[in-house]
Amino acid sequence: MKRPYACRTLNPPMLVSELISNVSATWDKQLVQATFLPMDVQVILGIPLCTRNVPDFWAWHHEKHGFFSVKSAYNMLVATRNRREAWLEEGPGPSSSRAEERAWKHLWKTQVPGKVRMFLWRLSKYSLPTNDVQAHRHMSDSPCCGLCGARDSWHHSLVECTSSRSVWALMNEEITHKIITTTEPKAKQWLFTLMDSMSHKDFVLVAVTLLSIWYARRKAIHEAIFQSPHATHGFITSFISELEVESGEGQEVLPLQSAGMKVETFLAVLLS
Ligand SMILES: [Zn+2]
Repeated sequence: MKRPYACRTLNPPMLVSELISNVSATWDKQLVQATFLPMDVQVILGIPLCTRNVPDFWAWHHEKHGFFSVKSAYNMLVATRNRREAWLEEGPGPSSSRAEERAWKHLWKTQVPGKVRMFLWRLSKYSLPTNDVQAHRHMSDSPCCGLCGARDSWHHSLVECTSSRSVWALMNEEITHKIITTTEPKAKQWLFTLMDSMSHKDFVLVAVTLLSIWYARRKAIHEAIFQSPHATHGFITSFISELEVESGEGQEVLPLQSAGMKVETFLAVLLS
């Protein structure tokens, strides 16, 4: 069942019957032309009209006959999911190289709860509401950090700001060194480089730390609730051990789906 491409008017007729002349029982050509684009007008005027009096009914767009079927609803849901996944994974587009495609897949497979993975994705897409981004969108008066007053950016918020530095300083030296010496200006490349230069276990730790720093900053800036770097570090350690308990000792791959609920709840409780 085809749909018109677009309407030309702000308030198009709601019912098909409004497009039909009562007197002649034919399409109201003038109204059809005023409502739809020329290519749609041609198709609509070509549809033969029923001369019997049939009551109005809701038509299901995904079946030719207009009647709802579970099969077509299922197909529609699967197609929608596939489209969303392709979008989230940034499937091979004309501008993405194979290396980048691989890096995205790798990043997307990081064995962390969905909330952490979504945070990494938002970071790489510059969709974290840091003040520089907010000011650019005219949603903040100042592009400066709400904690220290320096110019804000994803890197400032998560790495350079004094409170964030203090959290990184409590991590093991190797990770701290990598965080400081990885200087890619773009968040996405910065994440990819970190991911390639460390073990999966360390990258999970980095991902959880980034999210924890972000939450602690939001609490401090928006609710004036200040968490000490040691408290943030303590949370990260508990979170990671919870993940490890869920994954089982010595197991390389974390069964996320089964771990998901408990860890999400844990995160919600600790961060609330
Ligand atoms: Zn700052």
